[in-house]
Amino acid sequence: MSIRINKDKCIACGRCTQVCPGTLISLKDEKANMDYPRDCWGCVSCVKECPVGAIEFFLGADIGGNGSVMNVTSEGDILHWNIHKTDGSIETIDVDRRNSNQY
Ligand code: SF4
Ligand code: SF4
Repeated sequence: MSIRINKDKCIACGRCTQVCPGTLISLKDEKANMDYPRDCWGCVSCVKECPVGAIEFFLGADIGGNGSVMNVTSEGDILHWNIHKTDGSIETIDVDRRNSNQY
């Protein structure tokens, strides 16, 4: 599984269920639920869409993440890609949505 849903943070907005290209997530008991974890291919669409940073993406050793997890929070057009490292530190990369797809 590439993602993990923090149900304590989930506000049941349903965005992740709408953007997942594999329709792998649904709402159950007013919380997002990963129905098919083995089918997730880690496109991170749900991670980017979640308005409260409730979805974490595993950064495996194969991409240099060594078990870190990443979630995304936002302020207006700025996305904060928050990498939570195994030593407890957090590295944040800011991305401006307005610059996406400009190249
Ligand atoms: S990472 Fe992509 S494929 Fe996996 S659950 Fe999220 S939206 Fe679906
Ligand atoms: S996008 Fe986030 S807050 Fe909305 S249903 Fe999915 S996990 Fe919950």
